[in-house]
This record gives sequence, structure tokens and C-alpha cells, in this order.
Amino acid sequence: MSAAYGYGIAMISFPQRLLEGYQAFTTQRLPTEQSRYRELSERGQSPEVMVIGCCDSRVSPEVIFDAGPGELFVVRNVANLVPVYQPDGGAHGVSAALEYAINVLRIKHIVVLGHAQCGGIRAFIDKIEPLSPGDFIGRWMAMFIKPGEVVEQRDRESMQDFTIRIEKAAIFRSLENLLTFPFVRPLVEAGTLNLHGAYFGVAEGSLFVLDQATKDFRSATGSRAG
Ligand SMILES: [Zn+2]
Repeated sequence: MSAAYGYGIAMISFPQRLLEGYQAFTTQRLPTEQSRYRELSERGQSPEVMVIGCCDSRVSPEVIFDAGPGELFVVRNVANLVPVYQPDGGAHGVSAALEYAINVLRIKHIVVLGHAQCGGIRAFIDKIEPLSPGDFIGRWMAMFIKPGEVVEQRDRESMQDFTIRIEKAAIFRSLENLLTFPFVRPLVEAGTLNLHGAYFGVAEGSLFVLDQATKDFRSATGSRAG
């Protein structure tokens, strides 16, 4: 297959929606942000906020926080999970991103962004059968459980409430695990790095921010989360 032929195939099969989206980007957004892109290209990125979110297509941090280029350093994975610090020689994507964000970018805030109707959490709650022989989701979500811990629906707790509780627990677990990183904890204790939790309600587009003192999620616009 010639390069030209391959290129042609790629252009034919490249999603039309993305080509149209890029067209809109170049005609609408780029003209107003061209200078910012050039500046970011010359002096490099220096975002102050890192967001650890879910892969879910409905929960895009840049959209939710109306962020422009260079503003958010984003890691997304199934169920917005941060693993515990594990210097075992293995390849750890979230840890690599954290290492760069903290040691090179000197990020000031890390936001763990959870959300409603999370498929990863649902798979975990429903204890689904492996989707492939590797059972990657099962293994990934297993980090949620500490040795001896049991995650079950409580008496008189509706499935919806249980699900929301576990979606929020994923945020707490990630925040807890962040503190296991030796290059994170000292900065948090010194007050130069701040950890935050947030929860996005997909249907309403509502955002709830974790009040670390009370462990409650409060509406970013005022009222209190259920
Ligand atoms: Zn999710």
C-alpha cells in the first residue's frame, strides 16, 4: 500500500463529525485564540490546575470548566481513579502524569472530578463478568477495594443512592490515594498543592464541590448535594 493510498483511506474513514468540528474550530475559536496558542507554543504550558476525570464522553473537564488552551492538565480514565503509589517497575499512566504535573509543571490544584451514571462504577457495583480475557475494567476497578473492605448496598438504601454513594467514594478514594505519593503529600501539607473533589450531575449539568471539612458535596452555585 502506497503512502498516498493509505493517506486517502485515512481521510475517507476519518470521522466526518471530527473534520467538521475541526473546520468550526479553525473558523470560530482559533482566530480568537491564535495568539494564545502561539504564546503557549513558545513559552510552553503552565497550567495551574490538574483534573483527574472519567473517560465518560459526557464529562469533559474543558467543557464543564469552560477552559481554554493551556489551562487544564487533564488525565481521564475509567471512573476517575488514582491508584496508590506503586514504584514496582510497572507502567503507571496516572502516576506518570502526576509525576510530570507536580515536578515539572508545579501544578497548584488537583481536582478529582467524579460524575453521575458512571459506567465504571456501575460495572463495579454490578460485579459484571469480564468483558475480555484481560478483565481490564475488573482489575482497574479492584483498586477501589482495600484489603478486607466490603462495598455493599446498605439496608433501605435505594440502588440510586448506593450508586451515588459509590461514585462519591471513588472521589474520596482517589484523594486518599493521591496522598500516598511521596511527591504529593509534603506539598499538600505545606499548603502549596491543594486537592479537591467535585461531582458532576450529567442530566442537569450541575457541579458539586467537596467541602473537605464536612466531607459533604455542595453545589458550586449554592445549594447542597443529596
Ligand atoms: Zn465515569
